[in-house]
Amino acid sequence: MKAIRAHEFGGPEVLRYDDMPEPAPGPGQVRVRLHAAGVNPFDTYMLTGTYAIKPPLPYSPGADGAGVVEAVGDGVTGLAVGDRVYTGGTADHQSYGAYRQVVLCTPSQVHPLPARVSFAEGAAVNVPALTAHVALERATPRGGDVVLVHGASGSVGLAAVQMARAAGYTVIGTAGTDDGLALVAAEGAHHVVDHRDAGHIEKLQTLTNGRGPDVILEMLANVNLDHDLTMIAPRGRIVVIGNRGRIEIDPRKIMAKHAVVTGLALWGLTAEEVTRGHEALAAALASGALRPVVGTELPLAEAAEAHRRVMTPGARGKIVLLMP
Ligand code: NAP
Repeated sequence: MKAIRAHEFGGPEVLRYDDMPEPAPGPGQVRVRLHAAGVNPFDTYMLTGTYAIKPPLPYSPGADGAGVVEAVGDGVTGLAVGDRVYTGGTADHQSYGAYRQVVLCTPSQVHPLPARVSFAEGAAVNVPALTAHVALERATPRGGDVVLVHGASGSVGLAAVQMARAAGYTVIGTAGTDDGLALVAAEGAHHVVDHRDAGHIEKLQTLTNGRGPDVILEMLANVNLDHDLTMIAPRGRIVVIGNRGRIEIDPRKIMAKHAVVTGLALWGLTAEEVTRGHEALAAALASGALRPVVGTELPLAEAAEAHRRVMTPGARGKIVLLMP
């Protein structure tokens, strides 16, 4: 099979298009033939070798895939050859991620993919939608709340916009390009604001009649957290999802607003939180509340280009790699 592998840590240029033998599923495993793999920003962080998770070399990046079950190991129940699935991790994901044609998974790592969701869209579910779902749960929104998705044009942000809108909240989404703003509006935001605009904090205040959003889902905390604390509504909740550096904040603003600042790291969720999250995503995919948005499709061999693009401003949903 074809696989993208890193034999050393570094930038996108260290990714190689390799041939590897196809693995056979062991007891308690299924073999999935992937049609698409999702590219997440953290794939690029991990490749540098300086991230919290440092895989042994060589390794294949990728946490998210979608395809068809093609073999079932001893002791596996409830899954059959031919099932369409999306995957979240692999049985040995630190070495063998989703940037390859075939992966081995435990049953808890495969989730049903409805017929009307394409494989490319399926590869956009696991990390982005689970993150959006857990972040919304952590934010404990209440009826009538205004939810600001600060960084809504990317894959996490769009899933958050869709699910917050479906849940009945007033949704504001930000993006940094006209295309991104149009996409965020099309996917359900009541209002959109350009986060590159120097006056965008004032615009957000105006949109909420000076009160501020009740919930902020924050994709770039090292840039925005202190502003978020300025604009958050009294007793509001800020959920830090993305962060790429340090920031100075004034903690007095948290006191004055009786605000809650929380966060999440997907890899730190409990097994039960992951299971419950995927059950919620299954329901959201079935109802149409969650509609994965694929902005860019590239062949697997162009994984390095996908890594460059995922770190370039101007997000328009998910970047996926299509298998040969
Ligand atoms: P993505 O698809 O690359 O999207 C990045 C988003 O950030 C885009 O909407 C981008 O908007 C926006 N952005 C850029 N500059 C911004 C600014 N100044 N203020 C607010 N937003 C800004 O990435 P993603 O997959 O959605 O992930 C988003 C972030 O969450 C990344 O940092 C990722 O590493 C992190 N993340 C964390 C977890 C976790 O477990 N905590 C899980 C998944 C992702 P434009 O491109 O339109 O400017």
